[in-house]
Amino acid sequence: QTLAPIRAIAELPSNLADQIAAGEVVERPVSVVKELLENALDSGADQIEVILQEGGNHSIEVIDNGRGIAKDELLLAVSRHATSKVYSMQELVAVQSLGFRGEALASISSVSDFTLRSRTVHDKSAWQVSAQGDGKWHGPEPAAGANGTSVKVNNLFFNTPARKKFLRAPRTEFMQIEQLVKRIILSHPQVGFKLVHNGKTVRNLPACTDEKSLQQRLKMLLGQEFVDHSLQIEFEAQDWHLSGWVGLPTFNRAQTDMQYLFVNGRVVKDRNLSFALKQAYADVLYHGRHAAYVLFLQVPPEQLDVNVHPAKHEVRFSRNREVFDFIRRSVRDTVGKPLAATDSVQPG
Ligand code: ADP
Ligand code: MG
Repeated sequence: QTLAPIRAIAELPSNLADQIAAGEVVERPVSVVKELLENALDSGADQIEVILQEGGNHSIEVIDNGRGIAKDELLLAVSRHATSKVYSMQELVAVQSLGFRGEALASISSVSDFTLRSRTVHDKSAWQVSAQGDGKWHGPEPAAGANGTSVKVNNLFFNTPARKKFLRAPRTEFMQIEQLVKRIILSHPQVGFKLVHNGKTVRNLPACTDEKSLQQRLKMLLGQEFVDHSLQIEFEAQDWHLSGWVGLPTFNRAQTDMQYLFVNGRVVKDRNLSFALKQAYADVLYHGRHAAYVLFLQVPPEQLDVNVHPAKHEVRFSRNREVFDFIRRSVRDTVGKPLAATDSVQPG
């Protein structure tokens, strides 16, 4: 038996620790866009711009008009496990913000050429910090910029070749980002969004101010056909609230590409929830066809666990079964008998 020589145990250099952690949060450009958009939304912005080059492979910039970050907190914002969103376990269990792990900026900045620029209402100019993936930060230094925050991520994974190898063609990466942005636009009607790719404005939607502009946004994102063949719903039971649009059985699809589900404003991809909806439509759709819907579920934050996975796609409810029953019953009642669409579901 030959043993390798004993190696001393040492703490990982913090930048390397960030790069390792980045593996969980930042898989590809779309994951960067998701984290930056969540931050922009959490900042209270009502106007957000996403600017991409080469599907995000070359550069990703997200600009918001939210509350900004104070100059002397910029370096804190980019360090690991630093967050303004959760200070205690009590706050974690009732978290309402989209972010709370305090990891995104530290992770993203460890695998890219990164600049964070921000200006609060108290500042006379914007301030910025930047680093090239090596943990050596420049700044804060003054910069030009309006109130709010802009994050620029260039050359993602330039210093982690193994990850960079997995980047796809710009077109493929862009399609994923476009899908994500669409979901986020749908779930935040009160926010205006602009998406620019390679210098071309792909989407430019003003914030919705009334029912009419909301319908307009729905039409832009899902098409007139969906609007014509769907019913607006609103159900309440216990402390749960379900609203949105459900496609009529006549408007069915070969794919699940028009299924949008949001829980407390979060984009979720939850297999159990999707299954509950599949069951709701089971009697009215042919085998192999899929429903279209845009649904918003609101539950008390303490009944929801969003801390299941770092990317926060999945959620758990403390009353899983009952929530699924509520959704299934509400939607089934609607698509089964369209005229009763606005009836309320009785709890029980
Ligand atoms: P988290 O969102 O989980 O708190 P992040 O690493 O994404 O962690 O961000 C760290 C902190 O930086 C946030 O808690 C917030 O205080 C601040 N921050 C990040 N992005 C923005 C933004 N666009 N506007 C205002 N503050 C921001
Ligand atoms: Mg965040």
